[in-house]
Amino acid sequence: MKVNTAEFIISNSEVKKCPKANMPEYAFIGRSNVGKSSLINMLTNHKSLAKISGKPGKTQLINHFLINKEWYLVDLPGYGYAKVSKNLRSGFSKIIYSYIESRENLVNLFVLVDSRHDAQQIDLNFMEWLNVNGIAFSIIFTKADKLTKKKLADNIEAYKKQMLVRWEEMPPYIISSSSSGMGQEEILNFIEETNKI
Ligand code: GDP
Repeated sequence: MKVNTAEFIISNSEVKKCPKANMPEYAFIGRSNVGKSSLINMLTNHKSLAKISGKPGKTQLINHFLINKEWYLVDLPGYGYAKVSKNLRSGFSKIIYSYIESRENLVNLFVLVDSRHDAQQIDLNFMEWLNVNGIAFSIIFTKADKLTKKKLADNIEAYKKQMLVRWEEMPPYIISSSSSGMGQEEILNFIEETNKI
């Protein structure tokens, strides 16, 4: 798929004010600074559709963008400011899970993780919560350009191993770099293949 048009629709702090759920929707989420805004800009070939790194703790907003007048791309608030506990919901704000639980046109959630780091407890908890709630998601490993090919492959292997302690199989995943454009085609193809609702 090619992104021909990308329009900002609405930014809001209430799930009920999201646009009518009449098109397939794909949301992006991850810990703050994971590279979410950069990835959204890379995917849509925009310099500043999504705002690069606001200050942690700023207002938690859900941003809707309409792509090719066919599907919504949603930029969800970063998580991980609050303290993490064993509670699967801890560390991310109410708006995030109320969005995920109620948005019936959500086809897939992309959970971004930094390819340089070990699996983080908050991400593992979050994915477990998604699983328990039957939410389709895939992992995007970000900032791949920051690693050598070998280190990247080792890190992905290590991540898989960590996932397989708790999961029967590795969820679908894509490796990306907003600097090099790596992953763009794969992510857009994934969206194209799944957005027929
Ligand atoms: P967000 O808080 O998740 O939206 O993260 P940003 O997109 O604002 O990125 C956080 C920082 O990481 C910024 O300084 C970006 O320039 C940098 N960054 C994001 N993605 C990449 C990437 O793919 N490669 C490199 N080298 N840096 C990146």
